[in-house]
Amino acid sequence: MKTGKSSIKTRVTMYYSLTLIFVSALLVAILISSMIYQVGVVSRDTVMKAAQDAFDDIEYRDEYIQIDSDFDSYRKGVTLLVYSSEGDLIKGSLPEDFPYYTPLTNGDFTDIRCDDEKYLVYDLYNTYENNEGLWIRAIYPEDISLLAIRKLLLLVLIGIPVIIAVAITAGRRITSAAFEPIAEISEAAESISSGDDLSVRLPAREGSRDELDTLSVTLNEMIERLEQAFENEKQFTSDVSHELKTPVSVILAQCEYALSDVETDEEYKVALNTIVGQCRKMMSLIQQMLQLSRTLTSDSVLEKEYFDISQLCTSVAKETEILAEKKNVKVITDISPDISCYGDETLILRMIMNLMTNAVKYSEPERVESYVKLKLDNNDSDIVISVEDNGKGISDEDFPYIFNRLYKGDYSRSEDDTSFGLGLSMVKWIAEAHKGTVETESEKGKGSIFTVHIPKAG
Ligand code: ADP
Repeated sequence: MKTGKSSIKTRVTMYYSLTLIFVSALLVAILISSMIYQVGVVSRDTVMKAAQDAFDDIEYRDEYIQIDSDFDSYRKGVTLLVYSSEGDLIKGSLPEDFPYYTPLTNGDFTDIRCDDEKYLVYDLYNTYENNEGLWIRAIYPEDISLLAIRKLLLLVLIGIPVIIAVAITAGRRITSAAFEPIAEISEAAESISSGDDLSVRLPAREGSRDELDTLSVTLNEMIERLEQAFENEKQFTSDVSHELKTPVSVILAQCEYALSDVETDEEYKVALNTIVGQCRKMMSLIQQMLQLSRTLTSDSVLEKEYFDISQLCTSVAKETEILAEKKNVKVITDISPDISCYGDETLILRMIMNLMTNAVKYSEPERVESYVKLKLDNNDSDIVISVEDNGKGISDEDFPYIFNRLYKGDYSRSEDDTSFGLGLSMVKWIAEAHKGTVETESEKGKGSIFTVHIPKAG
């Protein structure tokens, strides 16, 4: 995707190029200035040492000051001159352009510039036994060392831009290579968003375990969840339509039958009763759907408060007794008193109610002592609610799906007209909305136990 702004690639290249130039310039400046300083120090040392060494070739012998015949007046680039105490040049010759009359100053360094040359001059005076003395003047053309610096500077000035140019070119290539996966990711993401095809996944990059790989994996997980959510919604709509279609078809058939074929009042009554039964079924489904949708939309607005869950469980157990009596099921309770829960009381009530109703609904009519047991307890971190029954139990085929919306197990499908497979999905949703969990244990023919853990911290 092109925009008016420069690409990240260009910006990254620009940033590090500028940094590189800045750092190089700083480095060159530091290098040159420290070299100039060092050269200055070395030159002074050389000149001073040459002057001091020169006195080794001068001796006081036989009441005279004698200069050795092998006195070397040019040492390590330093010109050495010997002057009498009156300042007359006795030995050595001045460099060509060096001024003849220059005052001698003992132990001092002087810079003397003449024509194109710059000289560092050092004078040293020594007195001998006859109280006479001699001057040594050491002259060092500084341009020798400065020339080396100039050459180096030239090299650096040519070399650094070349190095920078190479670094920028190579850097741009590296950046391009590094950003290539981003281009691939954005291309794939664009094709997903424009094509409505959620089955497309971002390309996996073999062997790489970097941040971009993590990004691809995370985005793929997100797309997968979206795809799953869309699929679930589609499935849910189609299942609900199907659930509604059957009673509507029966109602329609009964109406047509009543309008055309029915002759007696008795037959009318039968047709109307069937219609009423189907309408009740539809009403029940609509009610459960509304309940579910209200539950799901209360997501962000859970009305949490502290309430006495022990009391709530006691009243749910009482309410269930009315339903249980009809099916000859005993309601047993084991409720620890005074447990306080932080949560949405209405939703928690609905959750426990759904579990209790199911436990009664799926009781075993053949059993002599059918029971439903509601237990409430708590530990350091959780409130634990369990609903146990010795009813029909859940078959292995149904077990993995019972929490899916609109999933109905064996008995539910055949026997109960008001079962739509929404109760447990609501239970799961309410528990998770309270950061809790639901666990199920069940054995076909023996019974089931549903255990909900709600964290105390809310
Ligand atoms: P419904 O009860 O309306 O069918 P639910 O979502 O409440 O929907 O339950 C889904 C399925 O799980 C039921 O159809 C049933 O097969 C199974 N089930 C739920 N609770 C129990 C239970 N206590 N004992 C046996 N089976 C159960």
